[in-house]
Amino acid sequence: MNKPKIVILGAGYGGMITASRLTKELGYNEADITLVNKHDYHYQTTWLHEPAAGTLDPEKTRMKISEVLNLSKIHFVKDVVVDIKRDEKKVILENGELDFDYLVVALGSEPETFGVPGVFEHAFSKWTVNGARQVRDHIEYMFSIYNNEDEKRDELLTFVVAGAGFTGIEFIGELSERVPELCKRYDVPREKVKMYVIEAAPTALPGFDPELVEYAMNLLESRGVEFKISCPIKEVTEYGVILADGSEVKAETVVWATGVRGNSIIEKAGFENMRGRVKVEPDLRAPGHDNIFIIGDCSLIINEEINRPYPPTAQIAMQQAAVCASNIKALIHNEPTKGFKPDIKGTVASLGGKEAIGVVFDRKLYGSSANFMKKMIDNRYLFMLGGTPLVLKKGKNPL
Ligand code: FAD
Repeated sequence: MNKPKIVILGAGYGGMITASRLTKELGYNEADITLVNKHDYHYQTTWLHEPAAGTLDPEKTRMKISEVLNLSKIHFVKDVVVDIKRDEKKVILENGELDFDYLVVALGSEPETFGVPGVFEHAFSKWTVNGARQVRDHIEYMFSIYNNEDEKRDELLTFVVAGAGFTGIEFIGELSERVPELCKRYDVPREKVKMYVIEAAPTALPGFDPELVEYAMNLLESRGVEFKISCPIKEVTEYGVILADGSEVKAETVVWATGVRGNSIIEKAGFENMRGRVKVEPDLRAPGHDNIFIIGDCSLIINEEINRPYPPTAQIAMQQAAVCASNIKALIHNEPTKGFKPDIKGTVASLGGKEAIGVVFDRKLYGSSANFMKKMIDNRYLFMLGGTPLVLKKGKNPL
C-alpha cells in the first residue's frame, strides 16, 4: 500500500512543531513526511530584536534542522517554495516539485507596509537572521563613521523605529540599552544619539494593559527614546521618514516594525485570504480543502470574545501545530479531526537589559520578574524542541 505523503512548508515555530509531533505520533511505515525550508536551519523569530540591536549573537537564535529533528523519520528539503498547485496536489519549488496527499502551510509572514512608499527600498524590514545581522552591522557602521566625516551629520546617529507594537518596542528596548556601550566604544557623545518610535495608533502597544504600557514608555524615555504617537508615516525616503503632517525626521536608519501580513505564496496560490492570511476552518484546514492545513502567521482565526482576529504569535503557531499534527494522524486513521482553540497563557515583551513587562495567567509583571518569565518562555520553547541539551546550548540565563 502506498504511504500517504505529508509535506510541511516552512520550518518556523509552526512547521518545526508539526514535524516533530508527526515523527513521534506516526509509525515509520504510516507516512512519508517531508519538510521544506529555504534554509537548513531553524531560527526563533521571537528573539530577533536582540541580534538586530547587537545584544545577542545571531548564532544563538538559530539551530541546524538536522540537530533537532530526527531525519531518519523525515525528509528535509532545503529549497524555496514558489507556488502551490492546490488542485494538482503539488508544491512548486525553485529546484523541483513535490506531490502531496496532506499539506501543511507554515510559511510565516512578510512585512506589512500599509502602502507606505519606500519601505522596501529605504527601511530595514526583514525579521530574519540575515536581516538582523544587517541591521546590527549598519548601526555599528553609523557609529563608526560619525567621527570620520568632516561634517558631523546628526542623521547618522538618528534611529527611527516605525511601529510601537511588540516588535518595535522590543527592538528599541534592546537598542536603547546598547547605545551607552556604542557611544563609549566609538567616542560619540551620548546626547548626539536620537531614537524615535513613530506610531500611527493613539497609543504604544495597542490593546495591551495601559499601566504596563505607561511603565514601558517611561522606562524607554528615561533611556532617551522619544515617542511620536498618533503620527502616521507617509513615506520612507533615502533621507529618513516623512510624516502625515508633512514634517520630516532625517535618519540614516529606519527599522520597519509596523506588523505583518501572511506569506505572499498564499495569495499567489489562490487561497481566499485577508492580507495573505487564510481564515481556516475550526480544525485548521483551508476552506474547501480536505487535505490542506494552514497554520501560524499564514492563518487567521477569530477571537469570538471580541470578534476580531487573534494577533499572529509564536504561541498560537505552536499550539496550532500540535492540533494540526494530531488531525493529520486522525485523517490517516479515518478518525474525526478536532477543533482548535487558542489557550493564551500570557504575553511578555522584553525592554532590554533586565527589564520587561507582561501579563501571565492574568497577573501583571514588571521589571526583573517579567524579564525572568520572558527568558523562561524562550527556554521552554527550546526544551519542547530539543530537550535539555538544546536549552544548555542555546538557552538564556533567566537571572
Ligand atoms: P515563522 O516562525 O516565521 O517560520 C516561517 C518559516 O518559513 C521560516 O523558517 C522561513 O524561512 C520559511 N519560509 C518562508 N518563506 C519560504 C519559502 N518561500 N520557501 C521556503 N521556506 C520559506 N510571538 C510570540 O508569541 N511572542 C513573542 O514574544 C514574539 N516576539 C516577536 C518578536 C519579533 C522581533 C518578531 C519579528 C516576531 C515576534 N513574535 C512573537 C511573532 C512570532 O515570531 C510569529 O508569530 C511566529 O514566528 C510565527 O510562526 P510561523 O511558524 O507561522 O512562521
